[in-house]
Amino acid sequence: MSKKLTFANCATDSLAIVLPNPQISIIAPLYNETESFPRLIARLNAVMENSPLTIEVVLIDDGSRDDTAVQMQQLALTDGRYQCVFLSRNYGHQIALSAGIARACATEALFIIDGDLQDPPELLTDFYQKYQEGYDVVYAVRKKRKENWFKRSAYALFYRFMRSISYVDMPLDSGDFSLISRRVADVLNQMPEESRFIRGMRSWIGFRQIGFEYERDARQAGESKYSFKMLQRLAYNGIFNFSEYPVKIITRMGMLTLGVAGIYLIQTLIKRFIYHDVPQGFTALLFFIILFSGIQLIALGLIGEYVLRIFFQAKGRPLYVVREVIRQQQRQPLSGV
Ligand code: UDP
Ligand code: MG
Repeated sequence: MSKKLTFANCATDSLAIVLPNPQISIIAPLYNETESFPRLIARLNAVMENSPLTIEVVLIDDGSRDDTAVQMQQLALTDGRYQCVFLSRNYGHQIALSAGIARACATEALFIIDGDLQDPPELLTDFYQKYQEGYDVVYAVRKKRKENWFKRSAYALFYRFMRSISYVDMPLDSGDFSLISRRVADVLNQMPEESRFIRGMRSWIGFRQIGFEYERDARQAGESKYSFKMLQRLAYNGIFNFSEYPVKIITRMGMLTLGVAGIYLIQTLIKRFIYHDVPQGFTALLFFIILFSGIQLIALGLIGEYVLRIFFQAKGRPLYVVREVIRQQQRQPLSGV
């Protein structure tokens, strides 16, 4: 079970010899998206029919528990433009996306969208135009979000915080919705990071990148598949994978504490030996013990976050397991990969 197999793509497919590779791959991960599925396919078909480009669609089933997989199976067996990848279980959006990027056959660019139609697939034309102007990454910038105010403000705050602490130049209000060139996708496929924050990895890769403003639609059907816990994990991946700030802040807190302690010690000594005043303040002592125990635990936790990441990365497990890939007249069981 080698890493290479995990990233099995067109080059390793016998089908690639039969079918010429498309110019564009549209990638959409799906987790329990039965309700949006027919609308998604209708919009994608329209995009493909109205475009002069040769396009394939890579749909990834991220271990859905509803009928999404069945719908995908039927589609892939009847329409050769669709390549459907089925993961062995639910791995989460970022990993599902990675699986799609790894399978994409496009020679020119990959267009990454959400499967719930919050990212209009029709924007492919505009994004592709920017690609032709020489940009390797065209990322969507959300002008307006049609989501509740809590989510909107949480996102806005997070992106600003992330930008201020990150060591890569991360654009504001931009998610995974983007068009990336073949060479950017190739680099992404070579990045073995276990805790993936694709929008950050994309910024890290560099080349010429440009934002494209759009209004993010509301979800077309169903509920958000990102639970609070998953969002929190994504935010942590952003912070701990792209910033050394948490560790730096511990050092600064330590220095500050030492400084305060030094001043306090001098003051106490002066009181004791010059004014012969016996130091008092059991309550203050207790307060400081509790305060600094808290700070120390937080510091341990922050370091733990980095250690955990090393721990998971050190295992060297494949990022995901593909159960099956279906393309027209071609079923490829890839168990164990
Ligand atoms: N998704 C996925 N695996 C998951 C959660 C979500 O593949 O574990 C997909 C989901 O089907 C959708 C996209 O990722 O196509 C974005 O998820 P969602 O719309 O729930 O996130 P939100 O837009 O609310 O942030
Ligand atoms: Mg969504």
